[in-house]
Amino acid sequence: MPLNPHHRSCDCVKRSGEPKRTYVTQAEAEATIEYIRSRRGVALRAYYCEVARGWHLTSDVARFGYGGTSQRRSGW
Ligand SMILES: [Zn+2]
Repeated sequence: MPLNPHHRSCDCVKRSGEPKRTYVTQAEAEATIEYIRSRRGVALRAYYCEVARGWHLTSDVARFGYGGTSQRRSGW
C-alpha cells in the first residue's frame, strides 16, 4: 500500500515500529505539526529524509536538538 507513490520508501520508523509518514513538502509537515500541537499539545519537529526525499516528523527533541521546527536550509 504505497502511501507516497512519487517518493522513495525509506527505513525510518516510529518508536512503535510503524513506518513514518513522509510529507512531500516542509510546509505540509509543519502544518501537521501545528495541527498536532493544537490538538495534543505535543511539540514535534520536521526533518528532511534524504532517502525518502521527503519530510518526517519526530518528537525526539533530545536527539535532534530543540532549535525550532525547520532545518536551516538556504534557498528554500
Ligand atoms: Zn525516512
